[in-house]
Amino acid sequence: MKIRTGQGIDFHRLEKGRALWLGGVNIPSDKGCVAHSDGDVLLHAICDALLGAAGLRDIGFHFPDTSNEFRNIDSKILLGRSYEMIRGKGFHVVNIDSTVCLERPKISPFIPEMRSVIAGITGTDPDDVSIKATTTEEMGFTGRGEGVVAIASVLLRQ
Ligand SMILES: [Zn+2]
Repeated sequence: MKIRTGQGIDFHRLEKGRALWLGGVNIPSDKGCVAHSDGDVLLHAICDALLGAAGLRDIGFHFPDTSNEFRNIDSKILLGRSYEMIRGKGFHVVNIDSTVCLERPKISPFIPEMRSVIAGITGTDPDDVSIKATTTEEMGFTGRGEGVVAIASVLLRQ
């Protein structure tokens, strides 16, 4: 059995009056991500980890932010397409681990729903999808609420 690991990282600016999407879930917040798509930083990091593990370049290569096709697109569609691409190379997801770095709001209550959304798209069990939350203790751009970061790693088997 061939196994492959991949990692992904994504950043988005936060602005007042925008919807905050994280892990495919809409989270009540006075600020949301500025992006060409819905700005779901966690799903974008997971897409990049999946694509990277399979040697399939990155999210910007497959879903360019210059294309109207992807304007305001639901990132669950991008994750689904990334998953189809790795399946096309015969890979299955073993597990996903991820961390979201955001000062506020607290995302902990939404993590169970995010895990089941991501598991549903990637052919895994919610137990195989880990989402952790952290802050930078008010330091830097995340600490000032100017942006959000997500990091993901995945393991694939072929
Ligand atoms: Zn992104």
